[in-house]
Amino acid sequence: MAVNVPPTMRPERFAAALAAFEQIVGPQWVFHSPEDLALYRDAYSPYWGELQERMAAAALAPATADEVQALVRVAHRLQIPLHPISTGRNLGYGGAAPIYSGSVILDLKRLNRILEINAEGGYALLEPGVSYFDLYRHLNENRIPLWVDCAEPGWGSVVANALERGIGHGPMCDHFASLCGLEIVMADGELLRTGLGAVPDSSLWARCKYGLGPYLDGLFSQSSLGIVTKAGVHLYREPEAVQLLTVTAHHYDDLDEFLQIVQQLRDARILNADAPIVSPLMSAVSDADVAALLSRTDDVAAGQWDQLATAKALPLYALSARLFGPANVVAAQMEHLKQRFSAIAGISFTDARLYRTPLNAAAVDATDRTVLGLPNLLAFNALATTPNHGHYFFGPNIPLTGEAVRLANRIFMGVFRQSGQIRGWVGGNSCFPKTLTMLYPFLISEEVARNRANREIVRKLILVAAEHGWAEYRTPVAFMDAAMNSYSFNDHALRRLNETLKDALDPRGILSPGKNGIWPKTLRNRHGYTK
Ligand code: ADP
Repeated sequence: MAVNVPPTMRPERFAAALAAFEQIVGPQWVFHSPEDLALYRDAYSPYWGELQERMAAAALAPATADEVQALVRVAHRLQIPLHPISTGRNLGYGGAAPIYSGSVILDLKRLNRILEINAEGGYALLEPGVSYFDLYRHLNENRIPLWVDCAEPGWGSVVANALERGIGHGPMCDHFASLCGLEIVMADGELLRTGLGAVPDSSLWARCKYGLGPYLDGLFSQSSLGIVTKAGVHLYREPEAVQLLTVTAHHYDDLDEFLQIVQQLRDARILNADAPIVSPLMSAVSDADVAALLSRTDDVAAGQWDQLATAKALPLYALSARLFGPANVVAAQMEHLKQRFSAIAGISFTDARLYRTPLNAAAVDATDRTVLGLPNLLAFNALATTPNHGHYFFGPNIPLTGEAVRLANRIFMGVFRQSGQIRGWVGGNSCFPKTLTMLYPFLISEEVARNRANREIVRKLILVAAEHGWAEYRTPVAFMDAAMNSYSFNDHALRRLNETLKDALDPRGILSPGKNGIWPKTLRNRHGYTK
């Protein structure tokens, strides 16, 4: 498992490389002791303790973009694989570990400057080491009425989460969409600015996404083509009010109409933030009666679910509605929403909470904190109820329609059932507003055999999803090759284009080799990891 030199590199040459890195950042910022490198393991690795667990050979912590450039030039010259991380808290997707064992981690947590906050314009220019906590604290201490749409948990990097296309829960839940202009160190050490940032001294860099020519920012998201050292981030202006409300439906056959209304309200920006959908009844697998219906392989009549819903006093479907805006507009949104959903017989509205700003953060309900832009680590409390060593998700996107949600639950439950597991009904998030992002959690175990069995299930789920035209939009390192295989139109033309770009922009294949199933030509087809 231990890897202390990059693959194909002789130890003496690597020692010389470490000395060159030390010249640039100082010896205290070059880490290669086993104790230090243990901190760069992925604490949630689906391969924990197995040969395929990804391990770093060293880690470097530069403090400036100039130092990043200098380190990259050395790595480029010596062909050393580098893997950039910002805070390395990407738990569930790979943590601080590399994708290719033996890579050197480029840890950007010291690039943690808030370079600009433009309160009037509503944007920030950030280095990648700035966490949600850092940004929130800065805005709060300086009484700047701008909100951060935070990820769960809040210790991660604002920029890295957006680059990875993470989602939040407020009006700016699509975090990549909030990025505006990037500064990037390319694989040969060249420094580049995208969008209006390419116009020297432009005051538009973090204001206007679109410069001239192809829109390149996307090339650097979920990417192995460059290292982002600065990014413009659009922030949300503090709303006057936030109305939270749960909408519940009580009949199995309500799903189509329920989701049609959700879609229409998302399109009309009445529901103007992520609005998760769950089934309180059909996800209650610990209830023997629910589990009995879930484990049936024939079609369960709608009436049976309806009866069980009444007996258990649990709704079939629940939507967490979140309305942001001026108080009178939010009140009107709420009225309109209630009117629309009231077309469904028996619909109910519960748990209404109205927050007015400025928020009294101490009085905000724990479950509402992330939605209200208050970074926190409460997600770990929820997980602590089950003894485990971390978790990861299978997270396919499917259409936001009743037909797709029923089909997805049927086929995915079938995969679990074949593997001897009964899983409950899964809804998802509607952050990407015409899509439901489903999330099936898997717990990491101390038992290698169980982790292995779970990995097999995920690989089957990926295949079954692809048979229906669905795929993951983000996946743990262990499944990147398998997930990219789903994008196979025209003999994998998309992957081939990605490989062409990789070879052109990073011909020595040094940046995050294998990220999202895109391998440089130096390693293609011989990287040896289980597909
Ligand atoms: P978080 O801050 O959310 O914990 P990480 O720092 O763990 O995120 O980064 C997650 C992934 O995003 C990394 O594995 C890497 O692939 C990519 N990444 C992170 N920071 C950068 C960056 N500054 N430039 C390019 N890619 C990055």
